[in-house]
Amino acid sequence: MRRKLYLETFGCQMNVLDSELVMGQLRVQGYDATESPDQADVILYNTCSVREHAEQKVWSRLGALRERKTEQPNLVIGVIGCMAERDGENLFRKFPHIDILCGPGELDKLPGMVHNASVASSASIASSVSVASSAPTVTAMNAHRVGPGRHVALMGSTSRRSSTLAQAEDSLELLDLSRSISASDGVSQAYVRITRGCNKFCTYCVVPYTRGPEVHRPPQNIIDEVRKLTDAGVKEVTLLGQTINHYAYKHGDGRTTTFADLLFQIHEATADLPRLRFVTSFPRDFTDAALQAMRDCRRICRYLHVPAQHGSDRILKMMNRGYTSGDYDDFVARARAMMPDISLASDFIVGFPTETDAEFAQSVAVIRRSRFKNSFIFKYSPRPGTTAMDRYVDDIPEDVKRQRNNELLAVQQEVSAQGNREMIGRTVEVMVEGESRLVSRQSAALSKVMAGGQAKAELLWETRTSPSDVARLPAESVTTQLTGRTRGDQIIAFDGPLSLTGEMVDVEIVDAKNLTLFAKRLVP
Ligand code: SAM
Ligand code: SF4
Repeated sequence: MRRKLYLETFGCQMNVLDSELVMGQLRVQGYDATESPDQADVILYNTCSVREHAEQKVWSRLGALRERKTEQPNLVIGVIGCMAERDGENLFRKFPHIDILCGPGELDKLPGMVHNASVASSASIASSVSVASSAPTVTAMNAHRVGPGRHVALMGSTSRRSSTLAQAEDSLELLDLSRSISASDGVSQAYVRITRGCNKFCTYCVVPYTRGPEVHRPPQNIIDEVRKLTDAGVKEVTLLGQTINHYAYKHGDGRTTTFADLLFQIHEATADLPRLRFVTSFPRDFTDAALQAMRDCRRICRYLHVPAQHGSDRILKMMNRGYTSGDYDDFVARARAMMPDISLASDFIVGFPTETDAEFAQSVAVIRRSRFKNSFIFKYSPRPGTTAMDRYVDDIPEDVKRQRNNELLAVQQEVSAQGNREMIGRTVEVMVEGESRLVSRQSAALSKVMAGGQAKAELLWETRTSPSDVARLPAESVTTQLTGRTRGDQIIAFDGPLSLTGEMVDVEIVDAKNLTLFAKRLVP
């Protein structure tokens, strides 16, 4: 009998991809995805540790499951991803009802662990790199546990040893290669990993500890995967890596495939893929060759997410970012000189230890100078195990962090709005992602009102058909507000039939409000 699996994903695109791959493997093992945790036989949380806030959400989910596990001991609960790796067996102490802990570097073992946890009541431990090193701790933990055994796969501190690195490369590669997709899946956008882990050790960041050392996937495997996705009808592939422009694969014969080579090779091998994008870039060492590849390969999107993190050289040094604010400006100037229409996005951390008002103002100045399309702004969150937490006192009060966060957001919104206004009158290609969220929300609200038997609903947005009518009409005849993204990652809203979802459409930008551009469709 097939069993039901609820898998909830937190955090970055890497986690979204990991969840997709894990789900694909578990489907083969007889599990079907359910949207409702109440219906599930197995509940998995794919977690993020980058900020404490992301972990708190998972703690509250786990807390809420305590009682259910008592009533339904056969329910399997697993924590996978960065939080499992970072907190390790401590999580058992806080939440004794967890059955599975699996770090992001061990996900190839997850199907076996879920199977074991589902069918067996005896203890079982899976550890790829060193059963001997992790088993005693887990066994000790098991001594405190009542009920079925625990299933643990974590890299632990052994993950950076070269002897275990090659082993980890091979087994994780199998996870990426296991991806199965066909045209009937109707998928139009997909992620493909090119690099795992990170070697940068920015002082605030847990990623090098949770995802392990940087490993570059063999270029042919990446190309084959993008080819497979394109053959299945995918229109936009986003390549993933923590510092993606550092990709460099060393072949056995001494040759190296650089990031620029890889971009060219994928572009050549997938002439029928309309869009190729990549995230996240590191500002230092972005080669001219990689920028040229973007400029010369027509189907590579003119969009770069290159986090600056801060505008002060003193803080950048404390962060161990390895570049100055001047270096960052030079990079932006080089990118814009080569591609005047390039769209840039950034990340910033506010309230890093000892940050003064004057240093914060330097981050504000970077946003104004670099004219980012958008920026993700984070309040500094001290993470256990990182150098910043060990070395610096988290001395910026929460209200100052909040106020700087809001101020930086406001400046970015002003810059984004200005950039958007400059786009009015241009014709751009949009990849349609579906109905706009506003319309979806209103349709859902209207459905609720109608289900309650009320005759009148107040709408914030004009809809041309009611949701009950929508259900009866073929997709090509339902006009609604659609959203999609340009090649520069700008969000565009325009009216059109739902059947355009997943298609490339030319539109003319007619208006810009706050962070959204409004357009009219140019019918060929
Ligand atoms: N690899 C990317 C890079 O180097 O820019 C970023 C990856 S990180 C998972 C995503 C973003 O989270 C970072 O760019 C940073 O702004 C933010 N971040 C990471 N650690 C943080 C921390 N301890 N507190 C606040 N923000 C943090
Ligand atoms: Fe974290 Fe820095 Fe690596 Fe990005 S480059 S993942 S911020 S350590």
